[in-house]
Amino acid sequence: MALSFEQGPIRPPSEARSLLLRVTRNCPWNRCEFCPVYKGERFSRRTVAEIKEDIDTVREMVETLKRRSWEGGFGGSIDRRLVEGILQDGRYSESFRSVAVWLYYGGESAFLQDANSLVMKTPNLAAVVSYLKETFPQIKRITSYARSSTLARKSVEELRKLREAGLNRIHVGLESGSDAVLSYVRKGVTAAQQIEGGRRVAAAGIELSEYVMPGLGGRRLSREHALETARVLNAINPDFIRIRSLALPGGTGLREKWERGEFERPSDEEMVRELRLFIEHLKGIQSYVASDHILNLLEEVEGRLPEDKAAMLAVIDRFLGLPGEERLLFQLGRRLGLFRNLSDLEDPGMRAKAQLMKERVAAQFGGDLEQAIRTLAERYI
Ligand code: SF4
Repeated sequence: MALSFEQGPIRPPSEARSLLLRVTRNCPWNRCEFCPVYKGERFSRRTVAEIKEDIDTVREMVETLKRRSWEGGFGGSIDRRLVEGILQDGRYSESFRSVAVWLYYGGESAFLQDANSLVMKTPNLAAVVSYLKETFPQIKRITSYARSSTLARKSVEELRKLREAGLNRIHVGLESGSDAVLSYVRKGVTAAQQIEGGRRVAAAGIELSEYVMPGLGGRRLSREHALETARVLNAINPDFIRIRSLALPGGTGLREKWERGEFERPSDEEMVRELRLFIEHLKGIQSYVASDHILNLLEEVEGRLPEDKAAMLAVIDRFLGLPGEERLLFQLGRRLGLFRNLSDLEDPGMRAKAQLMKERVAAQFGGDLEQAIRTLAERYI
């Protein structure tokens, strides 16, 4: 029988090259109105023994891959041709393929799934992390998602134990620092818990990555969302602030509210203005702002605070200062995957392609380019 082990559905974009190891299943909260990921799935815990068995399976896979490498004349290294062969061979499980890709990229990081691994009892999670490190000493980074409410209940001492075991980074879906927004989207945490949880992680010496969602407050709460989120992050000073703009995937409560006219979704341009207000109010912190999600219109708004703040605001101002037609062309080109940076508008080849596509898309959507842009962006959800 093909070797396999259990993996969950998602990971942060920055963990694309990590080994994915499932330590709990689904989300213990599962009520956020904007999140489609685990809807209809029940949360469950896995035992330490089950997870260790999975780690043993990964070790077996690594040994098998090394054997295949020697047999294929690659001298034990995980060569691209070896991995391509495995990806195309239907006899291997999905998890086996993912281990081949992980090794190909160096095998140096692991991500613990699913939505809130820190909900595990601290000694159990520490035992899993230690076993993973012992089994694969080459792993340099072990990361996980966690909810702020869970982190706010862990003592700094417990978090320190996890760091000593080898957990180096925690990703938190902060989304907003506004209590009004958090309650509207049923995030199940308060701004005070977001601050407390984040500070404890930092005090324990674990790297902290906080995800922020421009647009989540809709038009009504846009200003409060920007200002309060900046206030909360200023109080935490996380290592990373990661931007992931609002999308409204089907099957979520927020999409239904929007369809009923109860939630006013901001346009791309309004989200960019909100992002400007947010960044402008980030003060006294040294976080790295990352824009590593395809849903973000302005990928180049990225840099270290405080020194890159002016450059980040300048990118936003450059976009907002474009004539209306140019802004639309950029939005469309970005959503079609043609443009990445604003300077791509100056590339004659890319520009001509975007113009052509614009005419086609306008015809297809009866001239409603805003709707076309939204529909195209939703392909990435
Ligand atoms: S806590 Fe995270 S995974 Fe769970 S419902 Fe909310 S956004 Fe989704």
